[in-house]
Amino acid sequence: MLPKRKIIVAIDGPAASGKSTTAKLLAQKLGYVYIDTGAMYRACALQAKRERISIDDLSVIIPMLERIDIKISDAGNGNIIWLNGEDVSQQIRTPEISATASAISAIPCVRYKMVDLQRNLGKEGGVVLEGRDIGTYVFPEAEAKFFMIADLEVRAKHRFKELAEKGISTNFEDVLQELKTRDEADANRSLAPLKPAEDAILIDTSNLTIEEQVQKIYVITCKIIEKAGKNNIGNKATSKKVKIRLANYSGYCFGVKRAIQMAKEANVTEKQVYTLGELIHNPGIVRELEEQGIHIANNAAEIKNSTVIIRSHGITKEEYKILKKNHNEIIDATCPYVKRTHKILQQIVKEGYPVLILGDKQHPEVTGLLSYGNDKTFAIGEDEPIPEIKEKRLAIIAQTTQKIEKLQELVCKLLLTFSELRVFNTICLATTQRQKATVELAQASDAMFVIGGLNSSNTRALAKMSSVYCPTYHIEDDKQLAPVDISQYRSIGITAGASTPEEMIIKVYNVLLQKSGDFKTVTSIEEIPMFKEESC
Ligand code: C5P
Repeated sequence: MLPKRKIIVAIDGPAASGKSTTAKLLAQKLGYVYIDTGAMYRACALQAKRERISIDDLSVIIPMLERIDIKISDAGNGNIIWLNGEDVSQQIRTPEISATASAISAIPCVRYKMVDLQRNLGKEGGVVLEGRDIGTYVFPEAEAKFFMIADLEVRAKHRFKELAEKGISTNFEDVLQELKTRDEADANRSLAPLKPAEDAILIDTSNLTIEEQVQKIYVITCKIIEKAGKNNIGNKATSKKVKIRLANYSGYCFGVKRAIQMAKEANVTEKQVYTLGELIHNPGIVRELEEQGIHIANNAAEIKNSTVIIRSHGITKEEYKILKKNHNEIIDATCPYVKRTHKILQQIVKEGYPVLILGDKQHPEVTGLLSYGNDKTFAIGEDEPIPEIKEKRLAIIAQTTQKIEKLQELVCKLLLTFSELRVFNTICLATTQRQKATVELAQASDAMFVIGGLNSSNTRALAKMSSVYCPTYHIEDDKQLAPVDISQYRSIGITAGASTPEEMIIKVYNVLLQKSGDFKTVTSIEEIPMFKEESC
C-alpha cells in the first residue's frame, strides 16, 4: 500500500556514493518528486564558465547570480536542469564542471540562492532531495534523513563507468583523485559542509546493489511516513516557528543620539533653527524634524541671524566661517569622534605629512575633513586607485564609519610603496562592533533586513557585508516590507545603521512577526530577541 503522508526525505553523502540513482528510484517508488540539488551548483558553475568569470571574485559572482535563472523539472526518470531556459542536463556532467561546482558551492551568496530554491521546491513535502547538506542545513527538520557512504575505490569505479557510458573519456586515477579532492573541499568548507546530520541513518553502499540500497531506504522511509501519519505531525519543515533576531549594537550611535537631542533642544529658542544639510542620514527623522520647524539649508550662505545646528558628520572650515560671518548662533553637534579625526588631521598636516583619508569624497564627513587638509590631503573611496603621491612618507586616517577590513587592506597596499606610514585608526568602535555583530547574525540567518537611509554610508556598508552571507533587504522603513515574501525563511536577522531610531526597529520587527504568522507585538527594543546577547 502506498503511504499517504507527504514528508521530506533527505539523502546526503559524498560524490558518487550512489545518492542520485537511489534518490531517483526511491522517489518513483514513493510517488514523490526527486530533486538533485548538486545539479543547481553545477548549473552555476556552467554559467561562470560560459561567462569566463573568476569565481574568486565576489564582485562578479554576485551580479552573475542575479542574471541566472535555474529551474529543475522532474522528468520521472531524472531531473532536467534549465539554465536561463536552456536544458543543460548533459553539459553539467563533465569533470571540469564537477570541480568548479564544488568551488562555487563554497561561496555563501551562491549557497543562499540555491538553498532558497531548494527550500521552495521542497517545502510542501512529498520530495526526495539529494545533496550534501539537505539533512543538516536545507531541511534540518526533514522527517527521513540518510547519509550514504562507500569506499573511495568503489565510488571511483562507479563514476568512471558512468562517465564512460556518457562518452566522456578520462582515466581511473584522475577520477579517483577528483572525487577525493572534491569530498575534502566539500567537507571542509565553513558553510554547510558535507557531514551526516546527527539523526541521519548511515547507509554503507560499498557492498550493496542498487536494488538493495533502494529497498533498504524505502522500507525505513515507509516506517517513518507511517509513524508521522499516526502521530499526525504536520510537515515539520513548514510548521516550524520563524526565529527573528536583532543584531547587537543596532540603531542610533552615541553621536547621532546627541545630535538629535541637541536639535530638539535648540528648537525651543525664539530664532529659526536650521541644519546645514540633513542632520542625519535618515529620511523619516529628517521629515519629523522639519515638521517640528527645523529647516534644512543646503548652502551656508542662505542662513543669516538664525540658529544653526552642525550635523553629526561635521561641516567644512569654510562653511563654518560663513555661518559665523552671517551672525548665526552655532550649535555644534559634530560627532566627537569626527571632531577627534579633524584634530588628528590638522596635527599631521602641520607635521608636513601627505594624508590619505579612507572614505568617499562625496560623503559630508569626508568633505568636512578634506577642508582641514591641504594640497597634499586626498580622499580615497572603496576600490579607487591610490593617488599619485611623490613623498615616501604618508599618514592615513579613515572616515569614522569605514570598515576596518578596508583600512587594513589599504595599509597593506601602501606598505609596498611608502617607507614611513603613520596609521590612525579613526573608525569609531561602535561602527566596528555593529559590523561584526551584523556579519555574525547574517551568517546564522536565512535572510537579513538592514534598516537605515539608502543614503547612509554605514547602513549601506552593513547591507553589503550581510549580502555576502544571505539574501539581504536594505529598507528605510516598515512600509517597504509589504511586498516582501518571507515564507521561505526560518531564521531572520535584523540590523540597523547608526541613524536608525529604535521606534523603526520595533516597527520592522512587529511587521516581520506578523508576516511570520505571529500576531503578538512588542513595544520596546528590550523585548526583541537579541543575537549572541552573551557577547555584548
Ligand atoms: O552531487 P553533485 O556531485 O552533482 O554535486 C556537485 C557539487 O555541488 C558537489 O561537489 C558539492 O560541492 C556541491 N553540492 C553542495 N551541496 C549540495 C549538493 C551539491 O555543496 N546540496
